[in-house]
Amino acid sequence: MNFDLSDEHKMIREMSRHFANEVISPRAEEMERTGEYPYDIIDKMAQLGIMGIPFPKKYGGSSGDWVGMHICIEELSRGDATFGALLDVTISVTGQEIYVFGTEDQKKKWLVPIAQGTKIGAFGLTEPDAGSDAAGIKTTAVLKGEEWVINGSKQFITNIGMDNASIVIITAKTQRDLDGKTVISTIVVPKDAPDFKVGQKYEKMAMHAGATHELFFDDCRVPRDFLLGNINRGFAQHLAVLETGRISIAAMSTGIAQACYDEAITFYRQRSHSPRSFLESQRVPFKLADIAMRIELSRNMYLKAAWLKDQGERHRLEAHFAKLYASETATKIATEVLKIFSPFGYLDEYPISRYFRQAKLFEIVEGTSEMQRLVIARELM
Ligand SMILES: Cc1cc2nc3c(=O)[nH]c(=O)nc-3n(C[C@H](O)[C@H](O)[C@H](O)COP(=O)(O)OP(=O)(O)OC[C@H]3O[C@@H](n4cnc5c(N)ncnc54)[C@H](O)[C@@H]3O)c2cc1C
Repeated sequence: MNFDLSDEHKMIREMSRHFANEVISPRAEEMERTGEYPYDIIDKMAQLGIMGIPFPKKYGGSSGDWVGMHICIEELSRGDATFGALLDVTISVTGQEIYVFGTEDQKKKWLVPIAQGTKIGAFGLTEPDAGSDAAGIKTTAVLKGEEWVINGSKQFITNIGMDNASIVIITAKTQRDLDGKTVISTIVVPKDAPDFKVGQKYEKMAMHAGATHELFFDDCRVPRDFLLGNINRGFAQHLAVLETGRISIAAMSTGIAQACYDEAITFYRQRSHSPRSFLESQRVPFKLADIAMRIELSRNMYLKAAWLKDQGERHRLEAHFAKLYASETATKIATEVLKIFSPFGYLDEYPISRYFRQAKLFEIVEGTSEMQRLVIARELM
């Protein structure tokens, strides 16, 4: 067994850490306050090849792997989790779904601009009656001549509201040609498709520089060949790439937890000469020891899941373990560090309040903690 990172992984870690420190962190508080979307930072990420790490060079990528991608997601999320979320939705889910299930034409049309970083993508699964129960969708796509006619709505869809978004991959109920049986398929909807409307932007408690919207399809028409992969397997395809999404959420959560720890250490060192007894006691160092240990475990868990994926091994259980543990751990660590900062942790001038609010999201998206436990229990049985 070898726990060493390769030279390439170390290089990605150093490059993304430097980028987070120099480019992201100085802007993070302002972005969170104003909600200004960081197009210029995404351009810089594209120039560094970050958007294409796991995809082959022939599709505009850097021919790296998923371990490298997730090391980068952790490091950028240490600066601000908005960028981890951008990479998760665009690369781990949307880009990968096109890469694995798309035709050569689809890859050229949609994957290449994503991997080169000129466009971002979105995935649309959640609906008013479907999220945890992902199969409960009501959106339909009916084949009429050479077009899919889509009707329905999606909610809480990240990325598609941004100016540089090109497509959303949606799940929709379709009918098989031969026996007319209803199945769930995945269809690519370009942002400029007729009668596709991006609705209200949600006002969130954090991650203000990212956008999450409602979507409406009212007899929206897209060409027949915008179906992605197998008509019968859309649901399974979507769930398969969401496994990688869960590894990404674990990496983001680890990044936030590490950022909390870094802040706590700085704060503790600054205040350790204070006569106040709580800083002189062992309470804070003991807490920091627990926090460091939990971060190490979160990191090992997402790296193991990503490594299994790179080996082509089954990693469903490990991805769920990593997502559940790292997201709940990030929330706990943010809470603990906020207490160490108390009452300064409650002030916006310290980033800890941003980490605290951002961390909560990762217990919800791409499957709530309850759903992770349900899937893990089913796998174990
Ligand atoms: C900021 C943000 C961004 C998002 N981005 C996207 C996106 O880009 N694309 C997308 O498709 N979705 C996105 N989502 C949606 C998100 O993934 C879902 O909201 C989430 O998976 C929960 O699903 P739900 O909304 O159906 O909640 P529900 O299923 O209604 O869950 C409500 C509560 O019930 C619990 N629950 C439900 N079923 C069970 C059960 N069987 N056993 C025990 N407990 C249960 C849940 O754990 C939860 O606590 C986003 C959400 C947010 C907040």
